[in-house]
Parts: sequence; structure tokens; C-alpha cells
Amino acid sequence: MLATSNPGKLGEIREILRDLPLALRPLSDFPGVILPEEGTDYEENAIAKAKAAAQFSDRVALADDSGLEVSGLGGAPGPLSARFGGPGLGDAERVDALLAALANCSGEQRRARFVCIAALATPEGDIVTARGECAGQILAAPRGQSGFGYDPVFLVEGIGRAMAEIPESEKNRISHRASAFGALSGAIRAQLGLVSRD
Ligand code: IMP
Repeated sequence: MLATSNPGKLGEIREILRDLPLALRPLSDFPGVILPEEGTDYEENAIAKAKAAAQFSDRVALADDSGLEVSGLGGAPGPLSARFGGPGLGDAERVDALLAALANCSGEQRRARFVCIAALATPEGDIVTARGECAGQILAAPRGQSGFGYDPVFLVEGIGRAMAEIPESEKNRISHRASAFGALSGAIRAQLGLVSRD
């Protein structure tokens, strides 16, 4: 079970974990699950989502909490990235709000990173988490069509292209989400009985 209703994340996590014999079912397959209101701590948010999903579905659940941290904004929007700019905005409007907030920022102030905490929860209450990061720079204008969220304005460090300009398969090797779920894969394999826990 995968505790997300974000189609961008769902596709990415399925692809990142494609080598594992998992039938990942999205949150929408479990209409009664109510995920907790998100707070300001990635790890608490990821654990709360995975726990709620595991308890409701009586299955092992995976969840993530992620965000964009920008140097010139003191690390904001961080865990509040999905709500940056105000309620009810779409991805493109949130990108516009970010570019407006950085209108007077250059160089170091446009340094940024994506952060992801992946969490696994069992119905018995066991929890495992892992963190991933991806460093970059906020561009002056959107570039590229792939990915979701802030991908069109995130220039990936060492690659020289916006996240939305690289193929999905490449994003799923280098992203913050790829690192976090890659680091969690040992715990997932243990749950599947593929390896021992130690
Ligand atoms: P949450 O993890 O559901 O709280 O949402 C995280 C928010 O951070 C998303 O809605 C996006 O705005 C942003 N975000 C997280 N990961 C990515 C990514 O891989 N690309 C672009 N934006 C992202």
C-alpha cells in the first residue's frame, strides 16, 4: 500500500521500486483512509501517513514526505512546499509564486535542495524511515515538461538541466525520492521475507 494521492509521486515510487516483487496499491484503493494533516517536520509527516495507512489497511504501508528548501528563503518552503503561495494553487502557480519570491535573489541565494523522507509502517506498529536529498539551483524561468511540482525550475547540480528536462528514468535514479526509497529497500525486502533483518 502506498499512502499518497499525488500521481507524480505514485508513478515515481513504483518505478524506483520496480525490481521488488511488490503490488503497490495507491491510497485511492482504500477510500476510508484519512491521512493526518501535515505539519512542519518531514519525518513526523511521513511516519504519520504510513502509520495511518498501515493501521487502516492492515497491510505494510509506504509513504513519503518531501519538499524544496531554498537558501534565499531560509530553507522554506520545506515541508510546506505543497502549500507554498496559498491554498488552492496548481503546480504552475506555485512555481510562479516561488519565482516571484526569489525575484531579487541571485547566486548562492538560489541554491536549493529537494528533501524526501520515506517511511515504512507495519500494522503492528514497526516503523523504518530513510532520507534522500538532491542539490540544485532555482532557475529564472521554467524549463522542460516532465516530472511535477517544482521540477521545471530546479536545475540539477552536476547535470546542468532542469529536473523537468531529464527523462523520468534518469530522475528516478538521481532524485531525493530515489535515494530515500533506495535506502529503505532493505527494510522493504525484509518485510517481503527476501532478506533477514540483520
Ligand atoms: P508532500 O510530500 O505531499 O507534502 O508534497 C511535497 C511537495 O513538494 C510537492 O507537492 C511538490 O510541490 C514538492 N516536491 C516534492 N518532491 C518533488 C519533486 O520530485 N519534484 C518537484 N516538486 C517536488
